[in-house]
This record gives sequence, C-alpha cells and structure tokens, in this order.
Amino acid sequence: MSIPDQIRALEKLARIDAELKELLEQLSQERSTLDGLKSGIAKLDEKLAADRASMATMDKTRGELVQDVRNMTMQLDHSREKLSRSRTEREANAAQRELEELRKLVRDREDEISKLALSADAARQQIEATEAEHGKLVADLGAREGDISSRLGEVEKKARDKRAERDASVKAVPTQIYRRYEMIRSKRGTALAQTSDGTCKACHMSLPPQLFHRLQREPILEQCPSCHRIIYFVLPEPAATSAPSERG
Ligand SMILES: [Zn+2]
Repeated sequence: MSIPDQIRALEKLARIDAELKELLEQLSQERSTLDGLKSGIAKLDEKLAADRASMATMDKTRGELVQDVRNMTMQLDHSREKLSRSRTEREANAAQRELEELRKLVRDREDEISKLALSADAARQQIEATEAEHGKLVADLGAREGDISSRLGEVEKKARDKRAERDASVKAVPTQIYRRYEMIRSKRGTALAQTSDGTCKACHMSLPPQLFHRLQREPILEQCPSCHRIIYFVLPEPAATSAPSERG
C-alpha cells in the first residue's frame, strides 16, 4: 500500500472519528438532559416521602396528646368531685393540689398540641410546594421525553452506522499504523497532524528542519516530536483563502 493511500485512509478514519465523537457527545447530552429531569423527580419523591413520614409522626403524636388531655379531663372531674366531698382541710388541700397538678399537665399538653399544629401546618405547606414542583417536573418530562427519546434513537442509529463505516475504513489502514493511531488518539483525542510550513498544525510546535525537509521531499509518515501525532506534509492552502485574515 503506497504512502499516499495510507494517508488517504488515515484521513478518512480521522474524519469518521471526529464525526463519531460529535455523535457520542450529542448522545451524552440528550441522556444527561433526560437523567437530570428523572433524577430531579426522584429527589423530590424522596423528599415528599420523608416529609409525609414526619407529618404522619406529628399527627400520631398529636393524637396521643389529645387522648392524654381527654383522660386528664376525666381525672380532673374526679378530683373536683373529691374536693367537693372533702370533709377535712387536709383532704381539701390534697384534692386542690391534685387539681392544680392536673391542670398544669393539661396546659403543658395543650401547649405541645398547638406547637405541633403549627409545625404540621408548616410541613403541609412545604409538602404542597414540593408537590407543585414535582408536578411541574413530571409535566416537563412528559412534554420532552418523547422528543428526547426519538432524538436519542436517531443519534444512536447514526452512531451505529458511523461505527460500521469506521470498521470498514479501519481495514484500509495497515495494522501497525492503526495501532499507533489508536494509541495516540486515546491519549490526545486526535492522532493525525499535518505540516505545510514546518510547524505541526495540531500542536503548533516547530519541527526540526531536517524532519520537515524529509517530510517535504517525499510522502512519508512520521511522528511530531512534540505531540507524537502521526504527521505528514500537505501543500499550503491557496493564498486566497488564508491571506485576508492573518490572525495569530
Ligand atoms: Zn505536534
């Protein structure tokens, strides 16, 4: 296989790899949009479950306290009766103390109940806000999932086709050179470099003059001493396209 043929085969492979890379980036972007929406919903699901559980605990505690108050109210009636029936001052004092203690216990429970009611209200509002947010995300996902999935399907198909095209083009590259190409590509992202003026077009470093001279003299494949990409000579672009903008 002649060197110019090898160069053509490598250029085709590099073009396919660039296209494949772009397709894979598109895929990961579409997937991350979808994953982002789904994980956002999952997080809100978790938050809702936790908030509802703590609401349930508060409701249960409140129910227990209400029951306590009911029992104590019955005890209060009992103590009042005792007070009304007491015959000595000692009995009256004891019944009075019992009444006061019970009243204090009832007040404490009622304080707790109203604090819990406030917390439960706040929690309920929080849950409603989270449910609204959750609903928005679910609607957003519902509206976009179809589009994203069909785009994903399209891009996946393109990537599959591109891979098949790549497999076919790899066959046109000598094994030894393909191995080197792959090794460099895995480290640098791209494996090919050209030179027209003595600098590597990939890393922009100057080539040793002798190397550049050899590259210019006949078609050969070398490696750039700086970036190690496979390098070869190409004719400079026609002046008309490069002359007007001489930027760095
Ligand atoms: Zn280089």
